[in-house]
Amino acid sequence: MCDLEAVRRAVVPGRTKLIMVESPTNPRMQICDIAALAALAHSVGALCCVDNSIMAPVGQRPLDLGAHISMTSGTKFIGGHGDVTLGILSVKGEDLAKRVYFLQNAEGGGLAPFDCWLALRGLKTMALRMERSAYNCARLAAYLAAHPLVKKVNYAGLPSHPGHELHMRQASDGGCLLSFETGNVEASKIIVEETQLFKITVSFGNVASLISLPCYMSHASIPAAVRAARGLPDDLVRISAGIEDIEDLLADLDQAMNKAMATCHREQQPGCGIGRD
Ligand SMILES: *Cc1c(COP(=O)(O)O)cnc(C)c1O
Repeated sequence: MCDLEAVRRAVVPGRTKLIMVESPTNPRMQICDIAALAALAHSVGALCCVDNSIMAPVGQRPLDLGAHISMTSGTKFIGGHGDVTLGILSVKGEDLAKRVYFLQNAEGGGLAPFDCWLALRGLKTMALRMERSAYNCARLAAYLAAHPLVKKVNYAGLPSHPGHELHMRQASDGGCLLSFETGNVEASKIIVEETQLFKITVSFGNVASLISLPCYMSHASIPAAVRAARGLPDDLVRISAGIEDIEDLLADLDQAMNKAMATCHREQQPGCGIGRD
């Protein structure tokens, strides 16, 4: 989806019904040109739907960029506390809204009142939470980018990210998620297990910082060969920055990184401590 020409070649006018976009992508934080993909959809009479879960409506507004449908996981930044599961489709125009509502009503995908209440309560602090989380994430990204154990940091807010310029044109900040590679699975496992303030879990958008190994958790169901073909390395660590004090987060991550460095040097694992290549 990041290769506009490839999408153009794949689209069949009259037969393509929907162009589904995710930007930034989870977990590698690749950036797709939402406005260009939406324009492509318009030109062939298809709909463009953007999965906006990572930036959420506070950080990125796909309908303003030309998309027909903006999809957001309410489980993440809207709820914000990891205690509710829901999702939101925002659509352009009354007709599309009626079609979506018909399906929702016909299929019975309604939400319990308590879940609605949790989501509405989450909304009130959403912008503040996301502002702090994005700040924390940018600080963590800068720390990781300068660390000798880290081979690569995927964070759209870093000027070194290949999609940085495009992302900053279509979003308001770098976002609250990052991932990074150490080049060594054992080192990555130690980092994930040794942090104390980052909870090990698959979700994101929580007031608490979360850490995971996507290839062993959220993306484990994708066959290893497919993961490799898509450039999803086993040593990839994903972090969702919470709203904690950034100095606490940096100190915690730093002690975990030190443990990973010490273990890898002791075992003389290839790739450890010489990560940057
Ligand atoms: C989590 C997630 C979903 C699914 O959302 P749930 O609310 O957990 O069902 C969809 N898309 C992306 C990009 C996500 O991260």
